[in-house]
Amino acid sequence: MRHRIAVVGAGPGGLTFARVLHRLGHPVVVLERDRGPGSRPPGGTLDLHEGLGQLALDKAGLLARFREVSRPEGQAMRILDPAGTVLRDWRPRPDERANPEIDRGQLRDLLLGPLDVRWGQEVTGVVPGDGALVQFGDGRQETFDLVVGADGAWSRVRPAVSPVTPCYTGVTAVETSLDDVDTRHPDLAELIGDGAVAVYGVNRAVVAQRASGGHVKVYVQLRAPLDWLAGVDLTDVEAARSALLALLDGWAQPVRDLVGRGAAFVHRPIHVLPPSHTWAHVRGVTLLGDAAHLMPPLGAGANLAMLDGAELAESLVIDGGDLDGVVRAWEERMWARAARWAAITMSGLERLVGPDPAAALALFDEVQPS
Ligand SMILES: Cc1cc2nc3c(=O)[nH]c(=O)nc-3n(C[C@H](O)[C@H](O)[C@H](O)COP(=O)(O)OP(=O)(O)OC[C@H]3O[C@@H](n4cnc5c(N)ncnc54)[C@H](O)[C@@H]3O)c2cc1C
Repeated sequence: MRHRIAVVGAGPGGLTFARVLHRLGHPVVVLERDRGPGSRPPGGTLDLHEGLGQLALDKAGLLARFREVSRPEGQAMRILDPAGTVLRDWRPRPDERANPEIDRGQLRDLLLGPLDVRWGQEVTGVVPGDGALVQFGDGRQETFDLVVGADGAWSRVRPAVSPVTPCYTGVTAVETSLDDVDTRHPDLAELIGDGAVAVYGVNRAVVAQRASGGHVKVYVQLRAPLDWLAGVDLTDVEAARSALLALLDGWAQPVRDLVGRGAAFVHRPIHVLPPSHTWAHVRGVTLLGDAAHLMPPLGAGANLAMLDGAELAESLVIDGGDLDGVVRAWEERMWARAARWAAITMSGLERLVGPDPAAALALFDEVQPS
């Protein structure tokens, strides 16, 4: 039986959902607010885990292609103390395929493939009823048998099933980037290595991570009130730089340079949904990915969004006609997995940006044994 299915959001979760449906021969409408795939910078790099994001890509028939474009060497992780002493220097074996990195833009293009996304479609709300009514920013409306909200942290689909909104974790981040690092900043390129370098101090950290093409994202993370930057205009690059470098007073010069050589700064406070976020099932509407279970950015969110999408798509086609029953059963499985990862990532954030830098180091000993 053919259902009219729409997914709101062409992020990793929405695209994986659509791509698996497409592979299984079921039509799907993808509604995305962005004007096109290149309308904004795609962001940094994602590590896709063997049992999560890679499993989802396998279900989409894209695992072999992922292996060609991803960067296993990007799993390398070096940890320093604020004085610049190397505490840990983990490098993957050449055949290590547990969590290779892929640029977000490459992943998007891989997933897009033959999909026909409706770009420039801003969804403002969904009204459940006899079919789910999608409302658009330009006043149009369209009804589907099932609407899947894969529209991220500030989902406009979520209010149709849940009144819950994200709350601030107490940890914020400022992002900057370095381009052509190997030619323009060879000293920093060496510090970062093939993957990432992280420096953990008391209630603050600096993380720099390499994407492809010599592009590096640098994050300063700290425990602070949400409005700690209220007096600083981040578009004033000098003011932003000096506010950030003041946080790193006494830190080794190369670490300060990771931040100080950045040319533009973006504030990214870390919000989460409650770790056990569920809702009373609503006929014709559901959520996946960050819209359902926003958690700290510690390497799980895109992976979970993709596996959510792949599994829901498979269930809809393979388990058959009872659309509502299939979605309900899938939600139970998705919630259970998300709750486990929300607990892991929340406790990880406590340790990585907390009062005891030794707790951050110990976390890597647990997840990345030498
Ligand atoms: C700095 C950082 C690093 C991270 N690193 C990792 C990592 O290494 N590994 C990992 O697994 N996760 C990582 N994450 C988390 C990951 O980015 C998210 O969990 C993931 O992108 C969620 O995917 P999604 O498809 O649910 O939502 P999103 O990626 O947020 O996509 C949502 C899509 O919906 C669209 N949209 C939004 N509102 C509307 C609307 N009203 N109408 C139509 N379209 C709309 C958006 O334009 C977007 O395209 C990181 C996050 C951050 C911030």
